Amino acid sequence: MDFNNIFSEIYNEIKAIPSKGSVAQYIPELALVDPEKFGVSLVNLDGEKFHFGNAQEKFSIQSIAKVLSLTMAYEIQGEKLWERVGVEPSGTAFNSLVQLEYEKGIPRNPFINAGALVIADILVSELKNPKKEFLDFVNQLCHTKVAYSPQVAASEKSCAYVNTALINLMKSFGNIKNDINEVMDFYFHLCSIEMTCEELSQTFLFLANDGVCALSQKVIVDQSKSKRINSIMQLCGFYDEAGEFSFKVGLPGKSGVGGGIVVVRPHEFSMAVWSPRLNAKGNSFLGTKFLELFTTKIDYSIF
Ligand code: GLU
Repeated sequence: MDFNNIFSEIYNEIKAIPSKGSVAQYIPELALVDPEKFGVSLVNLDGEKFHFGNAQEKFSIQSIAKVLSLTMAYEIQGEKLWERVGVEPSGTAFNSLVQLEYEKGIPRNPFINAGALVIADILVSELKNPKKEFLDFVNQLCHTKVAYSPQVAASEKSCAYVNTALINLMKSFGNIKNDINEVMDFYFHLCSIEMTCEELSQTFLFLANDGVCALSQKVIVDQSKSKRINSIMQLCGFYDEAGEFSFKVGLPGKSGVGGGIVVVRPHEFSMAVWSPRLNAKGNSFLGTKFLELFTTKIDYSIF
């Protein structure tokens, strides 16, 4: 398949679309990103790579890291993990407080902020040096050296009013075991990881390969866990727009407020798109459009 031609053809189509959303403002450092950036990268299980635009530029992966922290925690704890976090779509915003109160501090899924904070708490309990060990875990998947951005982590910490409310509420229900500041510090760091589209697509390839890292052949998670992580991405990976994303794109994936989206086509490829302007639900506006046209034109959804 000549992906290079398909990528430029689709980009030429979407760049003419007038309303393109706006860059995330609530984390000051993210508001500084050039909104015109656009990159795509696809890596397949035959080892082929296809890139377009700013595919080699680093950006803040934000919530996309929640899939990787879930993977690490799930591998450590197994099914016990699901006693503290659910697997249902929330239908509410990524940082919503409303469900948490009447569901007694158990977040709907690991990809809304509350759920990711519980996963961060689990990793703080299980790991001796969470920040270092998590980064080592990510680096073995992407085969390059990626890093946290101290500026983005500090920027998010400086205005973390809603995340502070979420974690305090869960602590009051007994669903956060460690010191709140320690968990939040780890959470802000994992969200601050910076990657290129190429690194991101390479990192997620294990989820297209039944949990096995395609380059090293190391089993990251078993086939059943890989299937389950993909199914949570399918149902919960796009905030309260997960249904629409599934309807239009039809691939499991995860977005972040840095404008990145990663999707997986099991047994074939992983693909990352980056465009910083977000739609009203917090998903990359052009990234979503690009993926919609991509899976439609070449009939590449999983359905
Ligand atoms: N670090 C961001 C937050 O906690 C992640 C949001 C996202 O990408 O969805 O608000």
